[in-house]
Amino acid sequence: AGPTMDEVVNVCKRRGIIFQSSEIYGGFAGFFDYGPLGVELRANIKRAWWRDMVQRRGDMVGLDSSIIGSPKTWKASGHVDGFSDPMVDCKVSKLRYRADQLFWSRAEVDGKLLCYLSLLETDEMDAIVRKEAEKAAAKAGLRGELTCSPVKDFTEATEEEQALIPSPATGEPGSLTAPRNFNLMFQTSVGAMSDASSVAYLRPETAQGIFTNFKNVLATGRVKVPFGIGQIGKAFRNEITPRNFIFRSREFEQMEIEYFIPPDEDCWKTFHQQWLDTSYNWLLSIGLKPELLSFDVHEPHKLAHYARACTDIMFKFPFGTQELQGVAARGCFDLTSHAEASGKSMEYYDEERKEKYIPHVIEPSIGVDRLMLAVLTSAYCEDEVGGEKRTLLKFHPKLAPIKAAVFPLVKNKPELMEKAQAIFQRLQRRHVVEFDAAGAIGRRYRRMDEVGTPFCITVDFDTLEDDTVTLRERDSTEQERYMPSRRMTIPELIDFLDEQIDG
Ligand code: ATP
Repeated sequence: AGPTMDEVVNVCKRRGIIFQSSEIYGGFAGFFDYGPLGVELRANIKRAWWRDMVQRRGDMVGLDSSIIGSPKTWKASGHVDGFSDPMVDCKVSKLRYRADQLFWSRAEVDGKLLCYLSLLETDEMDAIVRKEAEKAAAKAGLRGELTCSPVKDFTEATEEEQALIPSPATGEPGSLTAPRNFNLMFQTSVGAMSDASSVAYLRPETAQGIFTNFKNVLATGRVKVPFGIGQIGKAFRNEITPRNFIFRSREFEQMEIEYFIPPDEDCWKTFHQQWLDTSYNWLLSIGLKPELLSFDVHEPHKLAHYARACTDIMFKFPFGTQELQGVAARGCFDLTSHAEASGKSMEYYDEERKEKYIPHVIEPSIGVDRLMLAVLTSAYCEDEVGGEKRTLLKFHPKLAPIKAAVFPLVKNKPELMEKAQAIFQRLQRRHVVEFDAAGAIGRRYRRMDEVGTPFCITVDFDTLEDDTVTLRERDSTEQERYMPSRRMTIPELIDFLDEQIDG
């Protein structure tokens, strides 16, 4: 079994990976701060993505568009009118909930109709709701056979059912308003005047900046369809119920690609599958466990009207299996909408075919924060060493916040300290490394294991003689764990680290 959510949250706080935002003021729901190790982990995730998806591919270029752009962008994209989630209010407590995240089922017992509810979005939702129903029926003294309908969300309830569904806040049935749409975009105003004409939005996704720059990139880059534009940047959504730590927050970061392809019938299927494979393999390459990943193919009737297909790559988080990355085939909806709204052509001239067309797109989109939570969940493990519980973060060397630690065997020998410092400074030129001379060597290893440092380098008296060090790998087997595992020279060490970290 993987870690619980509390275990992940606690290690993040304890080790300076993630803090609640504005903690000294009691926190601010839906926002997070990344501490000294968190900022390194995020930077490494983004760097790995950028290298593999943009820099190391001949068919991709990068972009960094502004967070606030013309509000016309969001009108044309459909976000002003349609980027909303259904919301319900509890009339008594005044608390707000996302209607499609209130799960309930109809339970019947002894001819009585009751509705039961779960706020937990887990794989075992049906069982949880059923248990709640059984408890309530027992309390009411109903002993007959209980039948439960499959779990639905609040938006699927009839008026009669809505009146029976208990409020999560008070437990009283019938105290929830009917669902209504709530736009998720944060508004601000630009310029000295604050009136209707100055309204602007913080972008709720980075992708639209790619579409609005499509012509700029075409005119200046040496790009030919099929090609893609990748972008990493902050996005903001006024989520009704931010929850599950950094899984769903109000400020987050996205890594998105728009991959432009010819509009030929069915050609999108090949590219869609290619991007699914590429995305999935990349997630494995940064160390996510394959048994935690799966696919969710959206049913055609649940797709947005312009979308051809959408498959989500799912991850088994501690609170259930949820979307990690979306890979959508969006047709030519976005470019066409921007062409109509701006009056600017979004056509591409295909030299080989001698024809003009508006390309279609495949859109792989993943959240940095959500991926970071997946990385932490996948890496977290516990074991026991010498009767003591130990937490271990088995980060892939590419992602580990600290790549290596240099330990002089003892600290009261100046020549040894000096040699270890020299090696440390040499490594520090290329990587984030630590120097630790305090305490027994076993303790020092343990400290590094807890923050996921993959390599520890011990400098001992032999080092002074022959310039070799011992390298110990975090994930080596139990028996070897506190034993020096490999002896190597300094140049060999440098090559080894480069290969492991950047290879
Ligand atoms: P959901 O249905 O969970 O609200 P979505 O389908 O609206 O998400 P997309 O618009 O497809 O999400 O966003 C693409 C990616 O951005 C998601 O796969 C996720 O990784 C990330 N993401 C979206 N919303 C959030 C959020 N509030 N917090 C963190 N990451 C997010």
